Amino acid sequence: MVDKSKNDLMSKLVSLCKRRGYIFPSSEIYGGIVSCWDYGPLGVELKRNIKELWWKSMTLYRDDIEGLDCSIMMHPRVWEASGHVQGFTDPLVDCKGCKQRFREDEAKDKCPNCGGELTEVRQFNLMFKTHMGPVEEEGANQIYLRPETAQGIYVNFSNVQATSRRKLPFGIAQIGKSFRNEITPGNFIFRTREFEQMEMQYFVRPEEAPEWLEKWKEERMKWYKDLGIKEERIRFHRHSEEELPHYAAKAYDIQYEFPFGWQELEGIHNRTDYDLKRHIQYSGKDLSYFETNSEERFVPYIIETSAGVERTLLTCLVDAYEEEDDRVVLRLSPKLAPYKAGIFPLVKRDGMPGIAREIAKKLRSRFRVFYDEGGSIGRRYRRQDEAGTPYGITVDSQTLEDDTVTLRDRDTMSQIRVKMDELTEKMEKLINY
Ligand code: ATP
Repeated sequence: MVDKSKNDLMSKLVSLCKRRGYIFPSSEIYGGIVSCWDYGPLGVELKRNIKELWWKSMTLYRDDIEGLDCSIMMHPRVWEASGHVQGFTDPLVDCKGCKQRFREDEAKDKCPNCGGELTEVRQFNLMFKTHMGPVEEEGANQIYLRPETAQGIYVNFSNVQATSRRKLPFGIAQIGKSFRNEITPGNFIFRTREFEQMEMQYFVRPEEAPEWLEKWKEERMKWYKDLGIKEERIRFHRHSEEELPHYAAKAYDIQYEFPFGWQELEGIHNRTDYDLKRHIQYSGKDLSYFETNSEERFVPYIIETSAGVERTLLTCLVDAYEEEDDRVVLRLSPKLAPYKAGIFPLVKRDGMPGIAREIAKKLRSRFRVFYDEGGSIGRRYRRQDEAGTPYGITVDSQTLEDDTVTLRDRDTMSQIRVKMDELTEKMEKLINY
């Protein structure tokens, strides 16, 4: 049984996202479109912060990973080699009564919608098809929108390795859009047909793969904990033999406890040499690696870490959402928060707005901040609490006497006084840049 209060939590979060400018239904003025969402002023900042933190942790802070940005449309043979044309399918059933479609596992022996009889199961390929160029006849110039970013990395393995003169072990990281024609998208932004992935493929000697799988498992879990995700709501799930994808020798998911249950957030897989060998076979090109020290030539194994940007974003929002007696607060980590501080003149006179604007201008060169002079100070604090802004800086009458301002902490609501010319330094420490 799904707990009703947990359902409520999702609908409250959806309306907070709309109200505060995090996420809007796509094409809303035309009635919206199923499973498509637009990221508003705060949503786009949160998304960028997530991607930035991932990118930094994968490339900037390491000396063994290169970045890449591949085309979304690729040669159709890529998807034959990868196994997607043949096997990237979900079992689908139709209701003979109301005509609605379901994934087989969601409709047992009758239609969950109207109780009607179901058709036989058939396989439905999840790849979006389109045509390249001005031909639209069936089958001609048909191409796919990529359902994962990983294949772009595999087909560029030799390009990246040779140009960056990398030796094993090393990785290639990519962030980009993927498309899957999911039969049943849903749970807000959890499962959509267009989404972004943050994928890293780590190339290793075959016998070192098990050890690297364990290392990456730990690294990735640490990344989520560093974002402030609550320990008790995140866990590993090891794939059983039946769950293992065809390409993987061993696989883990990182799961999060969403209001609708424990669900996958990221996959961490030992993909063996499956992918490179398939591309060698289908392209006829040599993608093996020559190790100069041992003078051995072999096809590397791959450890993959594959995360979703929107799923991470949903996790951060769910995890941060709290209701207190008289306020709703998003306890987003300062690293993630769209605005780092709200800047407020206590009242709109005595030169306070001018001083507050000066502070905002100065801080803006380092952080995204929000200036607000409208309404009572209490209301202004509440608005920023809901938006997840970790700090409030208020110019008041004492500022006019001693050049200090109030610095308010979103979580504890405690206030301290800070000298204006020490604000940037203080904020830098607090935000942990
Ligand atoms: P699921 O079982 O939930 O469909 P999957 O096992 O097919 O996911 P992977 O192919 O391992 O997912 O994709 C890696 C990551 O990409 C997932 O952990 C998730 O974060 C993200 N992802 C996959 N499909 C979607 C989707 N339809 N909408 C949003 N994010 C997705």
